[in-house]
Amino acid sequence: MIAIVGGGPAALGAALACGKAAQIFERNAFCGKKLLLSGSGQCNFTNSLPKDKFLQALGEFRTWLKPAFYAFDNVAFMQLLEDNSCPVLVREDGKAFPRSLKSADVRDTLVSLALKKGVKINYISKVQDIIPQAPGFLLQVGGASIKADKVILASGGAAWPDTGSDGFSYRIAQKLGHKVLAAVPALASVRIQDYPPFDTCAGISMSQSQLIIGKDRFRGDLLFTHHGFSGPLILDNARRMQSGQTIRLVFDAQDRLFGLLQSYPKKQILSILQMLALPKALCAAILLKLQIPQDAPAAHFSASHRKHLRAYLTGAEFVIRDLESLATAMSDFGGIQLNEVTARSMQSRFTPGLYFAGESLAYSLPTGGFSIQMAVSTGYLAALSALNSI
Ligand SMILES: Cc1cc2nc3c(=O)[nH]c(=O)nc-3n(C[C@H](O)[C@H](O)[C@H](O)COP(=O)(O)OP(=O)(O)OC[C@H]3O[C@@H](n4cnc5c(N)ncnc54)[C@H](O)[C@@H]3O)c2cc1C
Repeated sequence: MIAIVGGGPAALGAALACGKAAQIFERNAFCGKKLLLSGSGQCNFTNSLPKDKFLQALGEFRTWLKPAFYAFDNVAFMQLLEDNSCPVLVREDGKAFPRSLKSADVRDTLVSLALKKGVKINYISKVQDIIPQAPGFLLQVGGASIKADKVILASGGAAWPDTGSDGFSYRIAQKLGHKVLAAVPALASVRIQDYPPFDTCAGISMSQSQLIIGKDRFRGDLLFTHHGFSGPLILDNARRMQSGQTIRLVFDAQDRLFGLLQSYPKKQILSILQMLALPKALCAAILLKLQIPQDAPAAHFSASHRKHLRAYLTGAEFVIRDLESLATAMSDFGGIQLNEVTARSMQSRFTPGLYFAGESLAYSLPTGGFSIQMAVSTGYLAALSALNSI
């Protein structure tokens, strides 16, 4: 028997490949609690990017994740749902959702496919320990000891532990001799020190904004919140940020301020800032922050005010108060080190017969459907390898 620990997308991906050889052990009374929350309940389960672009989007993890992606790629995932009464909607930006926009439809389709293939799903079955016992393993589940030939550890990471993923994978992997990278929040919003007056901008989103962290520049969609920033630009780069660090936002990427001040000497500075395609509330907040009167005409604008404003618009500094905690981060960065797992099989390099899948592994992917896709893909590859080795 192949024991699949967990009942999230990684476990369900594994179940698809294993069929009746496998049993799922899920601590909750149902599968996919985190999957149900995903995409604000709509489940952005993959991205329709062509294969090479998809892999590129996986950043520094692309080479390691390539075999898993090729085992079960984004086209295969969309086709699987389409073929099993869960029509797919692909948005213009490439993000794929169930057409119903209900994450439960993705979860239900995967669960019913697993059941059809003969996988046994054990709910309210918290695995407490996994003990290697050559050949195979003993799983401690409740008061019972269950024998398994192979184990696929798909019990998630440490983010949003209320869903059931409370770092169990990390504790077990560590016990079995793996190095585990301490989990930090990834895909998390940030709170900013001395944030007002930007709290008045909460809800404003700006597409293709620029963020500077150290010497690196990143582009993406930015969202102002009541206490700081969110949106893909921040979520995707959260693992590069920490409390006390200074980040910079670029509001005038083309450095057009001086030209506009010269061309429109009679216009008020607030109107000139709006000509940079910045929302009015943001323009007002910037001027308030710099203590510049909104109604000052461009012609009366002192040289020092001009320089000050230009510097701010081309790289406004914000100090991070803190990142959203693991309790509500969408994912973590941390977990089982990739160099201790064989990418072609997902098998542990230390414990033969033990496989890893999904967020238990130390990769962190951007928003856009990549995390769920790669959870399913790594689960699928782990299961193929486990089956082949029996
Ligand atoms: C709010 C939110 C929104 C998100 N939106 C998106 C999105 O739109 N697109 C996207 O790609 N990703 C999204 N993600 C991330 C995505 O949901 C995860 O990357 C994905 O669920 C990881 O899958 P997994 O199977 O590895 O782990 P999980 O989904 O965490 O599943 C692990 C399972 O293992 C079970 N388990 C844990 N310990 C034990 C144990 N000891 N015994 C038995 N069972 C156990 C847990 O109960 C859980 O069901 C979102 C995450 C959050 C929190």
